[in-house]
Amino acid sequence: MSRRNISCLGYSARRPDSAEQSFGLLNPLYWNVLMLDRRAFLATGIAGASALTFSSVWSQGAPDLGAPVLPTPGFKRMKMGDAEVIAFNDGAIRRPLGDEFVTNAPLEQVKALLASQGLPTTHVDIPFTPFLIVSGGQRVLIDSGFADNGPPTTGKLAGHMAAAGLNPAQVDVVILSHFHGDHINGLINKAGALVYPNARYFVPEPEFAFWMSEANMNAAPQAARGAYQNARRVMSALPADRLTRFAPGAPVVAGIESVAAFGHTPGHTLFTFKSGGQGFAYLADLTNVPSLFARNPDWSVTFDMDKDMARQTRRKMFDMVVKDKMVAGGFHFPFPAFGAIEVAGSGYQFKPVA
Ligand SMILES: [Zn+2]
Repeated sequence: MSRRNISCLGYSARRPDSAEQSFGLLNPLYWNVLMLDRRAFLATGIAGASALTFSSVWSQGAPDLGAPVLPTPGFKRMKMGDAEVIAFNDGAIRRPLGDEFVTNAPLEQVKALLASQGLPTTHVDIPFTPFLIVSGGQRVLIDSGFADNGPPTTGKLAGHMAAAGLNPAQVDVVILSHFHGDHINGLINKAGALVYPNARYFVPEPEFAFWMSEANMNAAPQAARGAYQNARRVMSALPADRLTRFAPGAPVVAGIESVAAFGHTPGHTLFTFKSGGQGFAYLADLTNVPSLFARNPDWSVTFDMDKDMARQTRRKMFDMVVKDKMVAGGFHFPFPAFGAIEVAGSGYQFKPVA
């Protein structure tokens, strides 16, 4: 991929050279989350869906869209009987809204839906929200954010944990929903060290099998291989004797159950938890921002790898959450990123807790 073709995400209008310095050209995050050659994306089709992409029009003279506003404090606690669920904001990125973000709806419709909710139509702020479940004396972190591997408006989890009176050494277990960079990169810092030195790690077996397959990586277009290499970078740095691959559908740890929710990625998995008569569902990337994809569950975000399967899964899982009146938490939901899911029109609506 030539440098000339690289388009840069608009969290700032900096040139690729400076971004390369900041994040390292070899940092897979650079490819997977921040930038991607638009042409390469078109060539890779769904295989390249781990990347955030946008119209090349933004790469030249992109308007300064400002930075996302991050929540203060950056965490929110919810008591559930003897247990507690804490949402931690790891930051957010501001992404210019182009016609590639929703792959199967006209941009005008997408903008109209945002406008109807009082949201900006020039860009979408995408937050990142790992959750911590404290249950039975165990602290279980679900998904990781970026640590120090991401853009400046991310990597806030450690500071927010400290503000909540916790430190990374106290995390007993880390569970992953899937292997996209924003969910796994925070496990290993830029220096190569474990961010959660005492944790055991649980990952969905089909997700591990997909990304760690040499055959899959070799079959992927060059521009899409960074995501596979990134999975190797993280997985190979985790202590093998503390890494467990579980079958989605099975209990994982501390009363947390896993639910197969394939589509976004081949092994994408949700987690449910019950305590004190209340249910909680961590929805991971069942949707990207709910303002678009809960309201229109049949719309596809560019990152859904199997878009048809993701659409079916989305409706099925939202129906489960509504029927069981669970509190829902989503990795890309607006802070505090958990609340109720209600039926709205032909879709659903996320109502964050106050
Ligand atoms: Zn994600």
